[in-house]
Amino acid sequence: MHYKKLAVAAASKRIRTVLPTRLSTTTSSLLSLRRCLSTRDCTVSSDSSADPPAFTNSRIRSNPRATPSRDPRPAKPTTPLVVKLSSKDRPSKFKIPDSVSKTVARELLRNKYLFSEYSLFSPHRGFQKWKNHGLLKHTKIPDDFFRGRIPIKLYPYQVDGPRFILASPAPEKKEAPPAPAKPEYGAMRSHVQIVAAPTADTPGACLLVHYDNRRYVFGHLSEGTQRLFTEHKIPAAKLSHIFLTGKTDWATTGGLLGMILTVADVIISAKTAVEEENRLRRKKNKPDIVHGGPQRIEIHGSKNLEHMLAAARRFVFRKGFPLDAHELRADPRAANPENSEPDYEDENLKVWKIPLVATGMESRSRSSSTGSQNPRKRKLNSSEEPEAMETVAEEEDGEVVEDVPAGLENDEEKTRLLMQTIIKHMFDSDWKADTLVEQPLHKVKLPAKIFVRDDEGKITVYKGPLPGRDANVPDIRVLVREPWPGALIHRLPPTDPCFDSTCYIVKNHARRGKFQPANALKYGLPKWTFSKLAKGESVTAEDGTVVTPDMVLDPPIPGHGFALIDVRYEYLLDSLLRRPEWENKEIMEHIDAFYWILSPEVKDDSRLKDFMAKHNSFKHIVLGEGMNPNTISFAGASGKAIMMHRMDPDRFSIPNHNNQEEALPAGLASVAELGKPGERLLLSPTVEFQPKFANALMNTIRPIKELTSTHAKAFNLALEAQEKVSDPAFAARVAESEQDIPNRDAEIVTLGTGSALPSKYRNVSATLIRVPGYGSYLFDCGENTLGQLRRVYGYAETDAILRDLRAIYISHLHADHHLGVPSVLARRAAANAALPADEAPKPLTIISTSKYIGFLHEYKDVEPLDWSNIKFLTLIGTGRKPTDDPSGPHSADLGPGNNHFNMLPGTLCALQPASFRGNPSEALESQTGLASIDACFVDHCLGATAAVFTWPSGLKISFSGDCRPSDAFAQIGKGSHLLIHECTFDDELIGEAKAKKHSTASEALDVGRKMGARRVLLTHFSQRYPKMQAPVLDELERQEQSVSGGEKKGDRTVVLYAFDYMKIKLGEFKMAERFLPALRELYGELEENEEEDGDGAEGKE
Ligand SMILES: [Zn+2]
Ligand SMILES: [Zn+2]
Repeated sequence: MHYKKLAVAAASKRIRTVLPTRLSTTTSSLLSLRRCLSTRDCTVSSDSSADPPAFTNSRIRSNPRATPSRDPRPAKPTTPLVVKLSSKDRPSKFKIPDSVSKTVARELLRNKYLFSEYSLFSPHRGFQKWKNHGLLKHTKIPDDFFRGRIPIKLYPYQVDGPRFILASPAPEKKEAPPAPAKPEYGAMRSHVQIVAAPTADTPGACLLVHYDNRRYVFGHLSEGTQRLFTEHKIPAAKLSHIFLTGKTDWATTGGLLGMILTVADVIISAKTAVEEENRLRRKKNKPDIVHGGPQRIEIHGSKNLEHMLAAARRFVFRKGFPLDAHELRADPRAANPENSEPDYEDENLKVWKIPLVATGMESRSRSSSTGSQNPRKRKLNSSEEPEAMETVAEEEDGEVVEDVPAGLENDEEKTRLLMQTIIKHMFDSDWKADTLVEQPLHKVKLPAKIFVRDDEGKITVYKGPLPGRDANVPDIRVLVREPWPGALIHRLPPTDPCFDSTCYIVKNHARRGKFQPANALKYGLPKWTFSKLAKGESVTAEDGTVVTPDMVLDPPIPGHGFALIDVRYEYLLDSLLRRPEWENKEIMEHIDAFYWILSPEVKDDSRLKDFMAKHNSFKHIVLGEGMNPNTISFAGASGKAIMMHRMDPDRFSIPNHNNQEEALPAGLASVAELGKPGERLLLSPTVEFQPKFANALMNTIRPIKELTSTHAKAFNLALEAQEKVSDPAFAARVAESEQDIPNRDAEIVTLGTGSALPSKYRNVSATLIRVPGYGSYLFDCGENTLGQLRRVYGYAETDAILRDLRAIYISHLHADHHLGVPSVLARRAAANAALPADEAPKPLTIISTSKYIGFLHEYKDVEPLDWSNIKFLTLIGTGRKPTDDPSGPHSADLGPGNNHFNMLPGTLCALQPASFRGNPSEALESQTGLASIDACFVDHCLGATAAVFTWPSGLKISFSGDCRPSDAFAQIGKGSHLLIHECTFDDELIGEAKAKKHSTASEALDVGRKMGARRVLLTHFSQRYPKMQAPVLDELERQEQSVSGGEKKGDRTVVLYAFDYMKIKLGEFKMAERFLPALRELYGELEENEEEDGDGAEGKE
């Protein structure tokens, strides 16, 4: 009997984000195992001499010039395991180790897998460092280790050491495995599901169309959509097509880049695993196996989609993930309105693209809510650039700026070619980081690492004079790294915003009717012809009659479908009514539903109601801002917030929400209904509306019940803390010890406290600082920062905060730190537009390195925002260390060899334009409310910075971004009142922290000590609960009091841990500290419970 060989598709880092919990990872691994087992290609010899498993480090090489797009996930090496099995050695035991959580055990039992569980072991050097940390117990594989077992790669589910579960299938019944699934027209099962309806933190409307082999997104891929996939355990790995509706702007595509990166990483890891497997197979002359998932991703959308993607080339770089972007630029039925050919077709579905033209927008200025320029007339001419843009350096960090390649202006085709080339290089490049090209030294574009070949042909680093910097550049030929081609394009050809909206009609293929043998027998056909007929071929009967399939098959089963109409702006309505598709019988037949994406601007327009009333044979389902209630989207995170609110109401608030059913406007209510997330429309095999799948509203009482019953101990500790902090004497003592801290009323709001990806409990990085009298400041601004703000403050107060926003600082270009900026800017513009005419909006400054500012500079072509009062402050390298004399030469060890990039960790940044430098700088204060900004480069990714902000009151706050601990940062942050430091890993994972260039808790605290920081707030956790230190508070306080009785005022460093939705005043750290024992108890218990649930275990890393 044969076992099937298993190549476990890499349970990649990203899969876990989509399947956020261990349960789903487990389930998916098991499912993929099951799939593998039913695939004929996987047969394996019964040779029992197991090969050593192939451990490979499948990390994707990243481009050193293009900043990596996202934090490397703090995860173990993703390692496909391939093992030969012997039929003789089938395990007979069926014992579940106690350490396996119940859910996993249930899953294993349910699937009748025999399994054992072992600590991780490996001879591979990738795991050696784990051993060094004492995490590994085995270094050698016992010879018989793999015999009779199929290993499933799982994630560590125990704190005390990474573990595998090794599982073997129960003996299978003798039956031939099914043939590999062939794509067949008219797949059997398919349905449409509403994934997102507009809420505060899921601003878009999104449909997901399911087929067995892949998924299609239709609608918006807004910020927060990916996190919804995680919340509802929708795997992103099968997502292969995205059809974006509406115009191209951040409201519709704000989550696109994050989602693409996630899907890319899932697929690239799976491919890498298969390649590795095939490499081994080829050695043994075995045929290759094929990676079954989607091989590429296709994105369809409106004009400027390519421009938007290409602008992200500064922070997106992947290899082996082809991405095609298709912009709808012309009306497919312009020439022939009767044409009913679909505009896109594959084995699952047919799609008709419907462009709604923005009528009257030619004369409309961009002033309204979001802009100030005429969309159609503006020509990109540097002299007409808004003032704000002038601060963009012509030279980017000393890099030579190449203008738009000659001849490309005004040439649409060439521009598209350029865009497609850039996009190809972003996702599917064949560029290699280590290729050296030879050229004359004086032609080398700096910064570049330069090499020379010595007399013996050996390549060494060139350290001599440099072109453009030194005199007497020798006339020699040198070798330089070939730059990433995308990096050579410093400025995309300009484009104009486009207001047209793309909509779709989507339909399944018709299926062939059922074969009726009786019909075939009537023509005297022999049985062997039946299968031909069933496949659609004609057969000639003995009497010469040609029997065609339609003579013997039941009538075809029509393919059903739906329309998705994105009409959020009044100026699209005329075009909607005029579209020819509505009268085209062939296109419209078997359409069952119209999904509408509406907005308050159009919801009362009678034209819409009339249209729906006229087409009343369809079901009309409405998704729209202000119509769908602002229900809680992320129940996991909100549940924790509600618990913490009950424990410490002053620091934690209940996320702003509305669970009341909202009604459609009276006009629409008679012809349409409101769509609810989760609801389905089954398209095949039958058509059925399935409201039963609607997501249940979150019960906001439950977390409190759970807290007071299950977590009674934590709750009681919290009550004690509440009592303590409400004691006026306590508050007075705190105030006394802090009297030298300025702005004790400054509020710190940790909007997103997780690293890498939005996850179930933590959103990605963003911290808001509100300093009364000066303004609000955002330190990093990851995806969905606006949504988090709205959950904390509600809509109106969020607008007030955004009007008060004086600076956004982006520490580095990993996607988890800045993808929320455009929507914050857009909302701020809208909030400012509502100001009374006599009130001038406050200026806003965006502070980052030129790469990020270059991205915004290109993105502004796509979405008209009010840029008139936004300035950019570019952080440029000085090459000096904090200890250097500012007017003297550079540090000795920063010679020309190191000049490369001028962004060495540990060196200082200067502000550009220079008028903002100097201390004190009036220009800086009037622009930002700040007295000074100091920053330095840190060891994380190229161009990563940490910064120190000082207000005129003396308040000093240091923010680390992501980094290894930095002495330079400690130096410039000396005397900080607050240090906000990343703490991606717990102390025991110091090896991971070094490898991924992050900090551990102790390292972060050490920086705080060096700074003499009075308060430390740890954040940016690797999607886990932090291991909270529990200070012995009463003892500390006694010491404090005894000192304060003496000469010195007693104060000590207070350390807190950030949670999403937490807001705390600077003068409240000691109050919040009182709740640490309660929180520690709560999260300790939650962690244990979720072990049981198989939930939340991804944090154990
Ligand atoms: Zn980072
Ligand atoms: Zn990060």
